[in-house]
Amino acid sequence: MSVQVESRKPDTTPTEKDPRWKSVVTRDSAADGTFYYSVKSSGVYCFPSCAARLAKPENVRFHPTREHAELAGFRPCKRCKPDQRIPKRHWVPDEIRFDIGTFSLGLVLVAQSSRGVCAVLLGDDHAELRRDLESRFPGASLIHDSARLESLTGKVTAFVESPSRGLDVPLDMHGSEFQLRVWHALQQIPAGSTASYTDIANRIGMPKSARAVAQACAANALAVVVPCHRVVARDGKLSGYRWGVQRKRSLLEKEAQL
Ligand SMILES: [Zn+2]
Repeated sequence: MSVQVESRKPDTTPTEKDPRWKSVVTRDSAADGTFYYSVKSSGVYCFPSCAARLAKPENVRFHPTREHAELAGFRPCKRCKPDQRIPKRHWVPDEIRFDIGTFSLGLVLVAQSSRGVCAVLLGDDHAELRRDLESRFPGASLIHDSARLESLTGKVTAFVESPSRGLDVPLDMHGSEFQLRVWHALQQIPAGSTASYTDIANRIGMPKSARAVAQACAANALAVVVPCHRVVARDGKLSGYRWGVQRKRSLLEKEAQL
């Protein structure tokens, strides 16, 4: 589809010269997730496909991730909800096999896509774990397959019990570019030590992003494999944990005894 972008107008703004502007003008949903744009006059940021009235180009700025837009002081648009909707630009598994094992701190759900382990979730209740998996992969068909996953579940459960032994299985991580950077940084924190949200923000080269780092930790689907439990508040307090602060405390205590 080709669109006329007023190429003959004499005072073309930098925004209009930017190829991303064309995606905004055409409300190209294929561009969703590849960048975001903010509008100075309204203070919000949007997906390229946002159906709201087209902003004046002189008020528009582009951002590589939504975290960049938020750090620049913009709020998510209420119409296209760029903070809530995950664009389906990335490959997503349509079939996921899972099994549930046990370790000393409860249950471990291990899920595998055709590419690798896509979720390791902790909990106390089978149905709740399954719902957690469902909410992370909406639309995927979930197959409880203890037979096929027996050896994988054994490996992952043993690893969750004592992370220092390492885990050598392919992973299938799903997240934004920013989340993936945070999760890779978390994987560099060795068992037995901790880091603060600010430490991680510094390590990924975005020192002002501690809050976004905390959000990325909360979105982690690979408990212990991506050790978000090793991230604590700057004053040493445990801060939150998606799978329970008590469990976080116990995991850290076990690792400190190594
Ligand atoms: Zn919008």
